Amino acid sequence: MTNPASPKTYRVKSFGCQMNVYDGERMAELLAQQGIAPAPEGEEADLVVLNTCHIREKAAEKVYSDIGRLVKAGRAAGREPMIAVAGCVAQAEGEEIMARAPSVSMVVGPQAYHRLPDMIERASRGEHATDTDMPEDAKFAALPKRRKVGPSAFLTIQEGCDKFCTYCVVPYTRGAEISRPFSDLLREAETLVAAGAVEITLLGQNVNAWTGTDDAGRDIGFDGLVKAVAKLPELQRIRYTTSHPMDVTDGMIAMHGEVDKLMPYLHLPVQSGSNRVLKAMNRSHDAAGYLKLLDRFRAVRPDLALSGDFIVGFPGETEAEFAETLALVDAVKYAAAFSFKYSPRPGTPAASMDGQVAQEVMEDRLARLQASLNRDQLAFNQATVGRTCEVLVERKGKLPGQWLGKSPWLQSVWFAGDVVIGDIVRVELAEAGPNSLEGRLLERATA
Ligand code: SF4
Repeated sequence: MTNPASPKTYRVKSFGCQMNVYDGERMAELLAQQGIAPAPEGEEADLVVLNTCHIREKAAEKVYSDIGRLVKAGRAAGREPMIAVAGCVAQAEGEEIMARAPSVSMVVGPQAYHRLPDMIERASRGEHATDTDMPEDAKFAALPKRRKVGPSAFLTIQEGCDKFCTYCVVPYTRGAEISRPFSDLLREAETLVAAGAVEITLLGQNVNAWTGTDDAGRDIGFDGLVKAVAKLPELQRIRYTTSHPMDVTDGMIAMHGEVDKLMPYLHLPVQSGSNRVLKAMNRSHDAAGYLKLLDRFRAVRPDLALSGDFIVGFPGETEAEFAETLALVDAVKYAAAFSFKYSPRPGTPAASMDGQVAQEVMEDRLARLQASLNRDQLAFNQATVGRTCEVLVERKGKLPGQWLGKSPWLQSVWFAGDVVIGDIVRVELAEAGPNSLEGRLLERATA
């Protein structure tokens, strides 16, 4: 049973957030540039990259069981794959992975994956390697030019986090906040549009912490960048995620009323409705301040769809404090949301706080929170029934002649008709479910 000397095929398996999805795409492009082809569907790959997420519960254990499964499948097929572990678990637990899992050939952190080709070459000679350096911005300069992307593409503009929420590992795994330079971002946005993107989602751990200087040397903030990207004539839509309440500026709020291409959707995590819990989380905002921000966004863009993140059962959270989260949800009426039970991340301050909440209590709170969030999501979808909106066609549906696209409010919309992927079409929203809507095609807005 041997490891392939030099891999001919690869598979990148990304877990977790959109930053990881972006990184996974970039790794795939890098491997393709080396002449390594994507493994055909259903076939074992010579090289498997596990692009891991530390936010997953029991993240490290899941990586070890993924590795075990890969080795077993490889043995059954007569050859073990070369395994690379990338992403946030690699960054946090690289040395331990190498020590515990001898079938792993390389461990590479989120800031160092541009060095994968060199690591693969070394692995092909039997040298195992770990690279969890955090060289500032070197990665992006070393990545290949993007040649072919789908109609909706990601563009990482900022990485890392300086906020140190007490439950979160990101500041440790992704490092300090860095903003990619303005000119690099404009160039990459142009390349994405030339490669087929009609929508760009600007990504960052704290996307609105982005700062830079424009071509004239003037300091600009996130809103300045959005306005500059919006000037690309072929680009139709802009989105962004994830933003932090603390970095919201007047300009960022105002741009929602000024930039037509900016879609009416805002993901602004709050995590809890209790000021005591927010303080213990080190969130740097309180519930009333958060609600005031949302009012200001809605004042400039009344049809804004709002989305948030929630953690239930943070250490010490009482039933009354949880009720404050439910009250905040009732007040906001989110169009979408992500909610989780608190789970301790090794090395974070919250992991050693007193008052860890029992699993069954967390499960009960999560169920109640999600019932409220699901109710509001369905209500939001139902309120858009009868409206006509533009839908970006992203892929074929399951049935013949059926297509799936996204409304301006990021709802999934199914419809039938004669369109192609990348079209923006006018659709009447006819029927709403909790997670998607059925639409009726009216006309193609762009060809
Ligand atoms: S803002 Fe808080 S939750 Fe978000 S990445 Fe930074 S530390 Fe983590």
